Amino acid sequence: MFGEIELFLCAPRGFCGGVIRAVKIVEETLQKFGSPIYVYHEIVHNKHIIKNFKESGVVFIEDLSEVVDSSRPVIFSAHGVPLDLEAKAKQMNLIAIDATCPLVKKVHRKVCELESEAADVIIIGKKSHQEIIGTTGQLKDLSKAHLIGSVADVEKLSIANQKVGYVTQTTLSVDETKEIIAALQQKFPRLSSLSKSDICYATTERQRAVKTLSQEVEVMIIIGSKNSSNSNKLREVALGEGVAHAILIDDVSELNWQEMTTFSKIGISSGASAPEYLVEELVSAFKKHYEKIKITDVKL
Ligand code: SF4
Repeated sequence: MFGEIELFLCAPRGFCGGVIRAVKIVEETLQKFGSPIYVYHEIVHNKHIIKNFKESGVVFIEDLSEVVDSSRPVIFSAHGVPLDLEAKAKQMNLIAIDATCPLVKKVHRKVCELESEAADVIIIGKKSHQEIIGTTGQLKDLSKAHLIGSVADVEKLSIANQKVGYVTQTTLSVDETKEIIAALQQKFPRLSSLSKSDICYATTERQRAVKTLSQEVEVMIIIGSKNSSNSNKLREVALGEGVAHAILIDDVSELNWQEMTTFSKIGISSGASAPEYLVEELVSAFKKHYEKIKITDVKL
């Protein structure tokens, strides 16, 4: 047993509306069709959710050629898919069910609108992320897409078209994205955007809460999977606010207890795809490891 510890449970945290919706679509499809069902890409980026669904008979695929039985439904993940994938599913006569988050769909509509205005589209985000693959894939002419991830990338952009617009991934760092957009506005004075950024409310609120709590604690623990963009950003936001340490863990089994003994004030939050029971398990483990524990709920 260790001595004393103070835990601060950050809110809002955990599941966002888009994740709740996507998980519900998979559950309802399983109920309606029975197993197996297919899900194109991880429905949301969380190891525990994926494991539980696999046990219920969900087959996760990364290509439609992996569909062995075309009479079984295929669900598109919350991150969205490119137009050509939707077309291919139609061509294969698959029962396609779209679990794309409505806020990602909004970004897709913006891309289409910019293309219909004959504009080039700058896409701010991470190249390999499923959401960016889906967003870029809304363009019929891919030569109009310019993917960037940093202010340095803005300097390298060379676009002859006078009409230029931008969209952003929904789960980026609010502060970093502001800097990138400012650099874009300077380089392209006629830059068109239908809103300031496309970072969703869930990402924005969770980052704001972690940022504020980081002033009070020495270490921030974020529950979330390593491939979860919004969870990674929460960790980066905490580090940016000067906490001594910030970690991203899938669950309590990854926690280094010896390392925790060097801290007395610990903040806890979780990414938009992390189930709340993982936070509860973490808190229970702290109760078992410490003689004296003070828990404060911090709603920011
Ligand atoms: S993080 Fe935002 S964009 Fe992504 S699923 Fe949740 S609400 Fe939708």
